[in-house]
Amino acid sequence: MSSKQRVAILGSTGSIGTNTLEVIRAHPERFEVVALTAAKQVERLAEQCIEFKPRLAVVGDAASAKKLSELLLAKQISTTVLYGSEALISAVLESDCDTVMAAIVGAAGLLPTLAAAKAGKRVLLANKEALVMSGKLFMDAMREGGGALLPIDSEHNAIFQCLPVHFSKSPSLHHGVEELWLTASGGPFRNTPLSELGQATPEQACAHPNWVMGKKISVDSATMMNKGLEVIEAYWLFGLPIEKIQVLIHPQSVVHSMVRYCDGSVIAQMGQPDMRTPIAYGLAWPDRIVAGVEPLSLTQLTALNFTEPDLLRFPCLSLAFQAGKQGGLAPAVLNAANEIAVAAFLDNALGYVQISEVVERVLNGIEPTVASSLEDILEADAKARTMAIDVIQHLHS
Ligand code: NAD
Ligand code: MG
Repeated sequence: MSSKQRVAILGSTGSIGTNTLEVIRAHPERFEVVALTAAKQVERLAEQCIEFKPRLAVVGDAASAKKLSELLLAKQISTTVLYGSEALISAVLESDCDTVMAAIVGAAGLLPTLAAAKAGKRVLLANKEALVMSGKLFMDAMREGGGALLPIDSEHNAIFQCLPVHFSKSPSLHHGVEELWLTASGGPFRNTPLSELGQATPEQACAHPNWVMGKKISVDSATMMNKGLEVIEAYWLFGLPIEKIQVLIHPQSVVHSMVRYCDGSVIAQMGQPDMRTPIAYGLAWPDRIVAGVEPLSLTQLTALNFTEPDLLRFPCLSLAFQAGKQGGLAPAVLNAANEIAVAAFLDNALGYVQISEVVERVLNGIEPTVASSLEDILEADAKARTMAIDVIQHLHS
């Protein structure tokens, strides 16, 4: 039996997925890829399968599966090809993996990520939407499964690094932690005159000043919904009240987040804005491995600035704080409405400033009840999506 860590990557063709494979490629003695999944990018997935030879590969539909099987057969690769959402769970449970990189974007990643948590896998969590939607349910599943949970989102990975090692074993003791400070670049529209935001295009919204990411998270970074989702993510991961989680605009993206302690200390994690750092940390924890990232040169930095976010410019951030404080199903509703609004914006079917309008109307239109089961969460998600589509249609009529 191999002593290598066996890794399944959910969403291997995306930005996080390809960065994960880059880190793994540099450490063949430590890691073995046993499952890869993608929605539609069959050619890219085929290349990954040819290189890493996983046992299982999963795509979104039958036509993509047929194409992938043909591409792999031509290269005599014996990877089993499956398709559909149930097969994503097979990639977690039947690939004999130890570690699951949860890097599908949006609610589509919820069920396989939950399956990984319940099965006691080591979960590398990039898919923040899954945690925002299912909060307590997901954290309970992790505890019951007994696997390690490593945050990959750079801010949460930074905070994880700045907390005492024993923190996650007894977060309720707080260990002297007073506040978590999440940094945010402010995105491409940080200084755009408010009067011009109405004309903002998907291309402009996706042109992030510091990070290269998938389209959905790039738009979320422009609206700062991303930071809002991250506040809720931090609440579940680290168990501090929302009031103790602060957001700071830090345009240089060098300090990835900070923890303020009761003795006056503030501990920060710094580095290049490169996701290979948190990915390598998650893969190798508690060790550290080379991530292929340029060293940070402090002498080449001219300044590190921190300011409070302007909530008039970033209404999505306020809405996320509102949903986080409401609790229950509100974060799932917020997330679903945002996913629909962002997809419509990327499709040129909704204006940039209307993203927050859609989210606000849906969030205020649905009664925030308690999230007691997965069914409740999926029902709230579906209801919020339908309502968001209605709101968008009304905005057009
Ligand atoms: P991406 O769009 O680049 O990639 C998404 C991946 O998920 C792709 O492999 C795609 O094929 C797959 N996918 C998409 N829809 C799917 C569906 N319905 N069913 C199955 N698979 C599907 O996204 P990304 O930027 O890599 O982000 C992935 C996740 O990581 C997101 O939740 C994001 O918030 C989080 N994250 C990303 C970054 C980053 O730097 N990119 C940083 C922090 C957190
Ligand atoms: Mg982040």
